Amino acid sequence: ASSVEIRKVNKFYGPFHALKDIDLSIPPGKVTCLIGPSGSGKSTLLRCMNFLEEYDSGEVRIDGQLIGYDAPGKRMSGRKLREMRRSIGMVFQQFNLWPHMTAHENVAEGLIRVRGLSKADAMTRAADALAKVGLADKMGNHPSRLSGGQQQRVAIARAIAMEPKLMLFDEPTSALDPELVGEVLNVMKTLASEGMTMVVVTHEMGFAAHVADQVAFLEKGELVDVDTPSGILHHP
Ligand code: ADP
Ligand code: ADP
Repeated sequence: ASSVEIRKVNKFYGPFHALKDIDLSIPPGKVTCLIGPSGSGKSTLLRCMNFLEEYDSGEVRIDGQLIGYDAPGKRMSGRKLREMRRSIGMVFQQFNLWPHMTAHENVAEGLIRVRGLSKADAMTRAADALAKVGLADKMGNHPSRLSGGQQQRVAIARAIAMEPKLMLFDEPTSALDPELVGEVLNVMKTLASEGMTMVVVTHEMGFAAHVADQVAFLEKGELVDVDTPSGILHHP
């Protein structure tokens, strides 16, 4: 499991100061929830961790290695960045599945294209990942024949099939009907219990309170508090 060290990170969108001197340590094998009002910079901070968002100053280190830059101010090659991202899985609010492929093919595709597995090996590993998220019996379904919660579990299976050492979740349950939220949170809880390093942007206070090891509160681009989950009780 990976660790993430964030030191004095600043991010600007034009003149807008979106992240202000963020310092945060993400310990290996633990769950960190990023909490805060809409627009406070949670998603931006999460996306800096795999360099989907370019930070302007400071450092983000994955297991000690700077991501996005070879040295401060000097961008790393696309090849090196892709190599680093191989150990980072990401799950978005939208499931981003290919509509013309079955759940099984959706999970196998990345293993074939990115990892260069044979189709047979990819399909075997994809089936294992889908079983893990409780979808062994839905592998042959196309996304249109899956509920939102099932589609998001396919997206999680697609990420974990790549055997990441760090998983980033950006409001993974926000697009779901309320009755489908629990099945996705439970899959995440299982991953957490297996020692995956997870960073989760969420408004699910129950999950943050019961599953997170630490909770980071953002407000207007500033990290205002890092606390144990019980600290949530003190934040309205
Ligand atoms: P959160 O995830 O907490 O809702 P975001 O990280 O998405 O917040 O956004 C933080 C702030 O940065 C918001 O004010 C948002 O409008 C702004 N922002 C985000 N992305 C962009 C962008 N691509 N261009 C300009 N402003 C952006
Ligand atoms: P909320 O009521 O705030 O929506 P939930 O009760 O739905 O939160 O729980 C969200 C997540 O937290 C679920 O994954 C659930 O399994 C987990 N959870 C809730 N209560 C507990 C608890 N007492 N112990 C461990 N996990 C819990």
